[in-house]
Amino acid sequence: MSHDQPEDDHPDPHLLARFMRNAADAPERRRVVRHLLAGCARCAAVTRQLWDLGEPPVRQPVPQERDLPRLREDAAALHQEARRLVEAGRGPEALQALQRARRLYQRLGDGPNLVRLRHLEGKIGEALGVPGEAEIAFADARRGFLLEGLGGEAAEALLDLAILYARQGRSLEIRALAADLMPILRTRDLRQGVGAALLFFRSLAETEHATPEALSEISRYVRPAGRPQAAPADGTGVVNSSR
Ligand SMILES: [Zn+2]
Repeated sequence: MSHDQPEDDHPDPHLLARFMRNAADAPERRRVVRHLLAGCARCAAVTRQLWDLGEPPVRQPVPQERDLPRLREDAAALHQEARRLVEAGRGPEALQALQRARRLYQRLGDGPNLVRLRHLEGKIGEALGVPGEAEIAFADARRGFLLEGLGGEAAEALLDLAILYARQGRSLEIRALAADLMPILRTRDLRQGVGAALLFFRSLAETEHATPEALSEISRYVRPAGRPQAAPADGTGVVNSSR
């Protein structure tokens, strides 16, 4: 889940603190998020102090059987909180909740939910105007969901990636995504209709009609009912309320 560390331009603690208060400007925000989403150990150490998150997970003991229900509950609550904050356009706080949820899921060894957090990191990256990081996170999530055998969620991550490409006019890469649908179509949990939606996506990609709007429609269809998604961001960190 980690990738290359950013080059050695670590934001100083004052900038990290301003980022947490949502007082950093767009270039500063991009710089901070690049470090945090890349798992930069040095910046994470500073933000851990700022956010008072306690010790890193490697120092924590394996949970006792009797603690598991409470840990699962806490992790799910933080996960839900992170989703809610992304939808409210509060990216820095969402990242904070997400990192706390991740440490609990790591202790629990909860693979599927760790992948779900990576997917959510992609949405936070978009909300904070860091499409490069969002792209890596969506690609990680697509691969991770497939490894967990979760085809429906892999399809959601794939479409998020396709929408990101469409916004950047990268139609060749959309076609490459559309040409590689078999691993998802072969998974067993695929909800009825998801396969058809993916094939529709492929036909749009092949005829160069895969606009962000069309792909967002397909994405809505692929998502299970009752689970909303963060609105697309315009890079200001403020989520547009019109959907
Ligand atoms: Zn750093």
